[in-house]
Formats: sequence, C-alpha cells, structure tokens
Amino acid sequence: MTLLPERKIKLPAWLPESRRRSLSGRRLTLLLPPGVRARLRTPERIPPSDWNERFRVMPAAESFPGKWRRDIAPHAAWIMDLWALPSVRELWFCGPDQASKTSSMLGCIGWSIDQDPGNIFYTASNEDKTKEIVNDKLIGMLRESPRLRKRLSKRSDDTGMSKVRMNNGVTIRAAWSNSPASTASFSARYTFNDEVDKWQRVGKETSPVRRIRKRTKNYPLTYKHFWSSTPAGQYVHKGMLACQQIWTHAARCPDCNTLVVMDEEHLAIPDGATVDSIKADPEAVGYACNACGSIWDEEKRLQAYRYGDKFCLKGADIANPVDIGVHLTGFVTPDMRLADIAVTILQARAGDIDARIDLAHGIKCIDYTDEIKEREEDAILRLRDSRPAGVFPVEADALKISIDTQDHGFWYVIRAWRYGLDLTSWLVKAGYVPSATADDFSPLDYLLASEYPDENGEPHRIMAGIIDTRGHRTSEVYDWCRRTGIIAAAGAPGRKTQPVTVSRIDRFPGTGRPIPGGLALYNIDTHHHKDRLANKLMIDPTDPGAFRLHSGHTFDQIQAFERDSSQQLSHNLGDYAKQMCAEYRDDRGLWQCPEKKANHFWDCESNGLALVTWLGWQHAVSEKKKAPAAPAKHQQTPANNRPGWFNNR
Ligand SMILES: [Zn+2]
Repeated sequence: MTLLPERKIKLPAWLPESRRRSLSGRRLTLLLPPGVRARLRTPERIPPSDWNERFRVMPAAESFPGKWRRDIAPHAAWIMDLWALPSVRELWFCGPDQASKTSSMLGCIGWSIDQDPGNIFYTASNEDKTKEIVNDKLIGMLRESPRLRKRLSKRSDDTGMSKVRMNNGVTIRAAWSNSPASTASFSARYTFNDEVDKWQRVGKETSPVRRIRKRTKNYPLTYKHFWSSTPAGQYVHKGMLACQQIWTHAARCPDCNTLVVMDEEHLAIPDGATVDSIKADPEAVGYACNACGSIWDEEKRLQAYRYGDKFCLKGADIANPVDIGVHLTGFVTPDMRLADIAVTILQARAGDIDARIDLAHGIKCIDYTDEIKEREEDAILRLRDSRPAGVFPVEADALKISIDTQDHGFWYVIRAWRYGLDLTSWLVKAGYVPSATADDFSPLDYLLASEYPDENGEPHRIMAGIIDTRGHRTSEVYDWCRRTGIIAAAGAPGRKTQPVTVSRIDRFPGTGRPIPGGLALYNIDTHHHKDRLANKLMIDPTDPGAFRLHSGHTFDQIQAFERDSSQQLSHNLGDYAKQMCAEYRDDRGLWQCPEKKANHFWDCESNGLALVTWLGWQHAVSEKKKAPAAPAKHQQTPANNRPGWFNNR
C-alpha cells in the first residue's frame, strides 16, 4: 500500500554512523500506524449542509431523530454553509426560539471535526442548558453518527460533560456563561456561543463577547465564532446588524413562486378580530403574499418556508465577507402559528407591555427599545369622568391617600375605591402641598381631617393611607405615621418574591422584640404594583376595574362655565398625566424613570394600589349598588357636554 508518493530523503544526522552506511541509497517502505494514516488522509471537502445530510444522525433527544434532513430546517443548511466560508470569522444568528440555532451549531461542530479539525469551545447560558445540550445532543450526535463515532476516543474519561476528546486531536470544551471554565484559558479555533442574550456577565466585565474573542488568539487566520440568540436587548441584535453582510430566509409563494421576506404588515388578520375571536377560530388568520396577495394558510406557509431560500438584506456585493449576520423572524419559521402571532400583535397594539416585548424579541427578533410611546398622556386623560375635582363618586365605598415625601413638601393622591375583585377606582384629588419645616406635617393633617362630599353632598373621610419613607425626612415621617396610623412604605429596588413584606421598626430596647402596635415598615415590590397599575390604566373607563380620573375642573370652574359657556375650560390634569407616563419598562421588565423626569404621582398611585390590595379591599363587599358607568366625556367641547354631575345637583 502506497500512502505517500516516493521521495528521496536525507538521512538524519542523529542516526549512528553504521546505520547511515547500511541505509544509504536503499529503497525503504515505512508502515504508519492506522491513527497516523487517518490523520494524513486528505478528507474529501464538502460543504456542511451536504456533510450533515450524508453523515449526521440526530439522537433521540432531538425533535426529529434519525438522519439529519435539510427540509426540516432549510435555513440551517445555508447558515452552516455561510459559517464555513473560508473568509468568514464571525457569524451572528439572531432568530426566534426553536429556530434550529443550537442544531446549526452542532452541525458545524460535526462538520469541523471531520472536515477541518480544531479545538472547540461551546458555551450555553446556564449549567442545566449546557448539560442538556452536551450530554443529550452533542455526545448523542457523536455516538450516533458513524463518521464521528470513529473519531471518539476509546478512553471513557475522554467523553464527559465539560470535555470531549476526539482521537484526531480535537478537544471540545463546554461551559456555561458564568461557570469557572468560562473564564479559564482554553485556546480554541472554533467558539460556539448559544443564547448569548441570556448570558450572565462574569465579575465586572462589560461584555462576554470580548472575553470569548480572546480565546482564539492562537488561530489568527483560521478562527471562527458562531454567536446565536433570540434577542433580549443584549448582544445578538446589535452584533447581527454590525455585520458586513446580512441574510434572511425568504419564503417562496406557492402561488406566484416569488421569494418574499415575510413581515407584520402582510399578516392577514380579519377586520374587527379580537384576541378571543382569534382563539376561537385560529384559521381565520392567514398571510397575504407580499407579491401577489394570495392568502396562505398554515399549510401553504410551511410549504413557502420549505421551498424558500436565503436572501441577502445587506452587503450583497461583498465578495469575501469576514462577518455574516443572519436575521430570522417568527413570521417565516413555522414553529409559531400565525394565529398566535396575531394574538400577540393585537395585545401589543392594545398597549400590553409583555406582548410588546414578546412581539419585538420573540417574533420580529429585534431589540425592544420602545419607551412605551403608546401609553401617552392622552391615554391617561381619556380616563376622566365628569366629576369636579374633590368630589367622591357615589358608587365608591372608601377613600385613601398615598403620599410621596419630598424635602420641602408632599405629593399626594386621594382616590376613592369600590370594594370587590375589580377594584374600580376614581381620582378625587391629586396635588402638591409645601411644608415649612422638616417636621411640619400640618398640610397632610389638614387633608386627613377634611371631608370630601359625594355628588349627593354626603361627606366622606380618608380611611387609610400610605407614605413613602425613602430618601427624605425618614425619622420625621416615622413619627407622623405613629401619630396618624398612616402606613410607612419603602420600595424595594428589584423584583421580590412577595408583593408586600412587613418589618417591625419599633422594638423593645434590650430584647429587640417588636412592640405590639408599634410602627411597621411595609416593603413594597414596586415593579409588581407598577405592572398592575399599567394594566389597570389600559381598562376602558366605562368598564369595571377602570382607574378613573375626575374631570380636571374645580367646582368653581364648572360654575363659572355655567355662567358663561363661551369661555375655554381647560383641565388641570396635564401634570398628573405627564407624571403617570414618565416611567418605562426596560428589557428586563423593570420600571425605570429617565433622569430628571418627575414620577411622583405614578409612585403614589402604585403604592396606593399596594395599600388597597394589602388591606384586602378586593375581598370586601361593596355596599353600593353598581351604578351604570357614565361614559367618559372629554371636556374640549363643553357647550354640548355639560358634566352629568352638574344636572344632578
Ligand atoms: Zn405570491
């Protein structure tokens, strides 16, 4: 057997003189051990998609076990081939869940072991995920695929969760984003980085992307990084956008044969459809071909995806791209039904923040950056009814106050509530009162002592209250709470496991035991209550559970208007509406207040919601008959819209 072409070789100097003399000028045959022969054989080079089709066997842990099939995830085929292009150093795959992101990486790993070997470093977001992928999917693939099984080391300790050694010199190391191994200095030619937007950072690092890039410094010309994730405001969407060339998977219309990039605009949702109507009849939702307008049902959509092809969105003229981005959306991948997408879109359009984030991250696969532009001041002002400020609605059961403490005054909201699960409520008064000194609480005492008449002239008093103790005049606030029975509250910085927890402040000296009836501090999960408040603000003002406002006019303004209806009647809730829109939810779902934006009324209202829930007003029984809800009327055209309250005096 001839393995290498015949050639003349110079005898090495270290051979003893006698050997050199006996070997000189003779023809020799060297027998190489099988392992060395296998390494010397030049493999037949084929692209990863062909290699996967011919040699990759999916283990039982995969959703489609058995031979890898191109038609199940056609985009995975061209993505692997782009990654393997000699010029490509980085590939950024930004796509929805269940879009064969991990499977594409495993396909590249299998191909590289066989076709272009080099050490491999794989990182997933957490330990469980790493175990699942390495044990069930990666090692499963290595064992089930004959071509790779041959390369598995015979030594059993060479195949483990954190390290797999192949007999052709390739070592695969696996880690999760904040594991010790993730920072150890293992040098790799290939890195595979799974769900990078879910990674935790290590120590004070600014970006794990930089840390991973350092790993391949020993392979300056041949390294490759594969990044993938569903976007969540971190790396993958920005990384993908920054690439020289960007590709997507276009669907091929079964009716007109055109390649189309599917999008939100062409989702065919029937006119007047609601979340409930779509859930009842999911087949009512289709997709209208961008080119010919024919409506695809799920079956045609799947066909369009399977016969689709890669489509260049950016940089088509670049011959040898160094980095390639792949942007896939939930519109084109078939795992999410069109009806489910339509439901998310309708919820998002109605202002549901979770749905808006889902639509951005999970379906459009872009970073969610919106600062809740929809929850604009007009949406708050539409909650106004016809009562003058300061008037208690007859339908309500109880009145409470929430207070935000400042150094020189207090922001306050007085709100009436009807008992019951809906927790319908009405703004009675909101404002700011100054205080002369740090321990001057007289303006608040005045508000507590005041009577708030209802539309029939019956007086009502404030029954409960909550005051923020953070930051300003804490000990004075505590004293005032001891005197008045108003609840002392502190907001917790992050998410908590309980909406409200109580800690005792007043304790016996020495023993430290809580004093019965002494002051308690209520720790509020502000994010939880702000979520609830944001949802309440979306309820139509005529529906149960609405978070209504007063008209924005004082009694005197309305009387003056009664005398002279030609004058402009402008409401005084502008500042309230502005503050209620100050905060936005970031991509972790936490409420943030942009610097210098006032959010006092928003804090008051969310603490107020925490208070009534803590007091159990949702479980109390309303003594009021449910009065028919008055339709909300805007006061911009007062001539035709005299407040209903006015006629009922
Ligand atoms: Zn068409």
